[in-house]
Parts: sequence; C-alpha cells; structure tokens
Amino acid sequence: MPIATINPATGELLKNFEPHSDAEIAAKLDLAQQAFEHYRQTSFSERSRWLDKVADILEQEKADLAKLMTLEMGKTYKSAIAEVEKCAWVCRYYAEHAAQFLADTYVETDATKSFVKYQPLGIILAVMPWNFPFWQVFRFAAPALMAGNVGLLKHASNVPQCALAIEEIIQKTGFPTGVFQTLLIPGAKVGDLMSDDRIKAATLTGSEPAGISLAVASAKQIKKTVLELGGSDPFIVLESADLQAAVAVATTARMLNNGQSCIAAKRFILQEAIADQFEKLLLEKYQGLKVGDPMQPDTDIGPLATPDILRDLEQQVQTCVKAGAKVLIGGQPLADRPGNFFPPTMITDLSPDSAIAKEEFFGPVALLFRVPDIDEAIKLANATPFGLGASAWTTNSQEQQRFIDEIEAGAVFINGMVKSDPRIPFGGIKRSGYGRELGIQGIHEFVNIKTVWVK
Ligand code: NAP
Repeated sequence: MPIATINPATGELLKNFEPHSDAEIAAKLDLAQQAFEHYRQTSFSERSRWLDKVADILEQEKADLAKLMTLEMGKTYKSAIAEVEKCAWVCRYYAEHAAQFLADTYVETDATKSFVKYQPLGIILAVMPWNFPFWQVFRFAAPALMAGNVGLLKHASNVPQCALAIEEIIQKTGFPTGVFQTLLIPGAKVGDLMSDDRIKAATLTGSEPAGISLAVASAKQIKKTVLELGGSDPFIVLESADLQAAVAVATTARMLNNGQSCIAAKRFILQEAIADQFEKLLLEKYQGLKVGDPMQPDTDIGPLATPDILRDLEQQVQTCVKAGAKVLIGGQPLADRPGNFFPPTMITDLSPDSAIAKEEFFGPVALLFRVPDIDEAIKLANATPFGLGASAWTTNSQEQQRFIDEIEAGAVFINGMVKSDPRIPFGGIKRSGYGRELGIQGIHEFVNIKTVWVK
C-alpha cells in the first residue's frame, strides 16, 4: 500500500509520501534510544506537565486535526472532533493518575522490606490502524510516556498526515526530542524492526494477519506484545429489554465510524418474542440515516476508508446472499457518486453455522439472528472466533448476571453500548488478541514489574 493521503469521499490522491529510508530509520532509532536514557530519569510531575500541554493543544487545534482525519479516512467531521476531545481526556487522565498507578507497592513477606517497583522498558513500537487515527495512538502514547517509555509509531499507510501531526504535537509540548517519533514505513518493515535490540516491546491494533506477523517476529526475540485485533461483537436483546432504548443504541453501535470499529455491534441476537418489532424499528432507523459528505454536520455515514474495504464488504454481503440470507436494506455500494460509499445494510435469515456468519464485517452491515431463549443467545454470542466486547439488553437481574458470567469477551456492557474509556481496561480474548490498554492495567503492560526484597 502506498503511503499517501487519498480522500475516501472522492478517490482523489492528495499527497504522496516517500517511505523513510533505512538510514532515516536508523537515525530515528538512535535518537529514540538517546532520548530514553535521559527521559527515564524525568519525574512524574514533569511528564504530567508535558502531557497536559498535549491535551491543551489537542483541544485548541481540534478543528484542524479533525479535518485531517476526515480527509484521510472519511469519518464524519463531528465524530472526528469527539475523537480529538477523547484524546485530550486520556492525556489528562494518565497525567493525573500515572504516579499513583506506578507507585511502589509494599507487600509483607519474610523480608524486612519488600515491594513492587515499576520501571520503564525503553523504546516501544506502536503499529496502529487508520480507523481511529488519533485515539488509537493516544491511548497507547499517554500511558507509555507517563511510564517513562519512549514511543515509535508506525501508523497505517493511509493516514500519514495524522501520524506526522501527532508527532509534531507531542514534540512541541516540552517532551524531550525523540521521545515520540513517527516512522513512515510499510507493514513489511515491522518484522525487521523487532530484531533491533533497542526496541523492547510492541503493541499492534489491527487485523489478525498483521497481529500474527508482529507476534511471530517478537516471539523470535522474546519481546512482549499487546494485540488488539478484530471483533464480531454480539448485541443481544431479550424480551424484557427496553426496546426503544436498545434500538437507538443498536443504530449507533453498528454505524459508529461508518461501521468501521472493532467494538461495533456486528451480530444482533434477538429473542423471538421481540424480534419482529426490533427488526421493524431498526429498519426505520436505518432508513433515516444520511450517507454522504463526511464534512457535513447532518451526515450520519461517510465513506469507507479505502476501495479495498468497500470491495471486501460488498463481497461479504454477496456471500451472505449466496448462503440464503435476505438483504432488507442496502447491500451494494452507492454507484451514483465517486468515493467508497456503502449504505446502511441489514441482513436476516443467515444461518449462524455458515462460515460467513463467523467473519468480521468492517462497515455498516448488521447481521440479525433470532433465538428462542437466553441459553441459545449466549451460545450464539460465543460462537465466534473473536472475543472483544458484548452488549446485552435485559431488565432481569438474573439474566444480566448470566451474561456477565458466561459471555466470552474482554468486556460485557449491560443495557449500554460497548465503548472505550480511559478509566477502564480495554482488550480482547480469543482471536481478538491479548493484553489490555487503558485503566491501571494499560499502564502496567509496558513496565518492568520489579520485585524488591531487602533483609
Ligand atoms: P491492518 O491492515 O492490520 O493494519 C493495521 C496496522 O498494521 C497498519 O499500520 C498496517 O500498516 C500494519 N500492518 C499491516 N500488515 C502488517 C504486517 N504484516 N506486520 C506488521 N504490521 C502490519 O488492519 P486494518 O484492516 O487496516 O484495520 C482494521 C482491523 O483492525 C479490524 O480487524 C479491526 O477490528 C481492528 N481493530 C481492532 C481494534 C481493537 O482495539 N481491538 C481497534 C481498531 C481496529 P499498513 O497500513 O502500512 O499496511
């Protein structure tokens, strides 16, 4: 994939970037290592001051930064504004709490004094996706920098201007030079990078093949990784649920980010008794959604990020139809305009046993399934290779408890939409990956948890 800005709403190539040469990469690694030697000695209060400044700049420049995101990957401008604001939040959150999260923890043993100490590891490589071009990076960078690590960012090739803008913001706040740098390189270069001794660990958010490739390269060097991969989250609605609330949230939960979110609700699992009504209400909501120019405030759904994603989604829908499914609305790219536009799509009557039902749909396509009771709902919810999030709707407390206990996922949200939040951990199980970002757990991923024992 070229490293370039191509407007997904028009297909226009706006800017091409030369990948960094081997010499440039080597220089950046040298600089990152030098930066670490000094940066690890800085205090929490210094780091907090710089990170709070990052938050200030994000807030001051949110209009331009949001525009850049919309231009490069097509999310609606209003959602891009919200994304920049959330990045400021995660910066302030870790600026405030990191010292407490990483304070020495005393434990009583047979020693005179024993405690756990948290120390930075060094250079952490972050391989990031385009779908939340700022949020994905900041939820890594804020805890990593507060812990005293330095970051190297390999961002997705279709969002180079976002990647460079993030580097510039972090560098201009007072953080020592080299503490956070962007590498403009293709994914194929990542494996080699992991064999450089100075890179101590890596985090990747993206697809399974990319995750596997990074994990294999890291395993060969015995380096830690955190992987945040795909998902096919269930959205389960039982008979006792507040249907109006569930339908409203179901619409946002599927269509957020033009349908391109790892934690989007992708499989709607409906108890028979309310399935007809839910389907009818959801269809009405979908009919009311406006697809179009992502810069316009009344647009609900902008273009998909690349022509490949559009093509893959169209093929997945066709495979559903071949497997006997019905398309209630949408189903084909918008042919009357340039850009990668795909309308809201609803699919019913797909056999949950078909291979296509187990895939992740990365766009505005909802798969609807029906089940007789909670046992079948949980069984179907878990019948996926993924295990990222799940949203379950019921007012019955015993049913709520069963979902909490029995759903196989990194997160269960009862009567609400699955979302990330700086204060609580985020991550998956099964093929959705391992490790956690955010919360206290996120900042503990890339530190040496050192045991100290003194007689
Ligand atoms: P992708 O192709 O895997 O790209 C993600 C990143 O990995 C990009 O920077 C990409 O670089 C890089 N990459 C690609 N191949 C690589 C390789 N062999 N070795 C190392 N790096 C490689 O992902 P995508 O399809 O664009 O993104 C969508 C996926 O991300 C979906 O499955 C979605 O569910 C998942 N996602 C997960 C989370 C989560 O938190 N769990 C959040 C958001 C998205 P290039 O762009 O240069 O190829």
